[in-house]
Amino acid sequence: MGFDAVTDIREDAALADLIASLTRDVSNFPQRGVQFKDLTPLFADRTAMNAVIDALASIAAGSDLVAGIESRGSLVAAAVAARLGTGVLSIRKEGKLPPPVLREKYTREYGPAAIEIPADGLDLRGTSITIIDDVLATGGTLGAANRLLERAGANVTGAAVLVEITALGGREAIAPLAVASLSRV
Ligand code: AMP
Repeated sequence: MGFDAVTDIREDAALADLIASLTRDVSNFPQRGVQFKDLTPLFADRTAMNAVIDALASIAAGSDLVAGIESRGSLVAAAVAARLGTGVLSIRKEGKLPPPVLREKYTREYGPAAIEIPADGLDLRGTSITIIDDVLATGGTLGAANRLLERAGANVTGAAVLVEITALGGREAIAPLAVASLSRV
């Protein structure tokens, strides 16, 4: 389906309701003022997980590679890649990969961070990639992932998330990168 049809995906109210019903909201975690979206119950639910992977696979269809942000985005990206028959790339948190790495620093809802991919042994030039993460908050993470992959020569088609926290303005912050969200809060 690809990003031309993301509007249809966003309008799947039944899927959005299912995601909401299996999300555990945790106040003041990991720090005061943040309402953490714990998607563990959703990931463990056969019906919901399959519906989410189907929806994300239809968004990412046509990409050469599905990239997920460690760790929950990578978990979902691996399932989407398996559904589509593509490769998967886990974009790692700082300090997890052996050097040399490409690193991109950013600010997210709860403080500064950095993400990395290997600088050796991985040729992303000309590769079309959909980035997947669990939650879009301020957009810092997806923006950094987009910059990182573009620095590596990839062609980022767009990003997809399970939950978009609209009040934090992430979509606007990372424009013109296209973002498809399966649910919005
Ligand atoms: P941001 O960069 O601000 O858009 O934050 C998105 C990243 O941080 C994602 O990788 C999420 O896993 C995590 N994150 C940020 N805010 C939340 C939240 N309220 N609940 C769950 N995860 C969050």
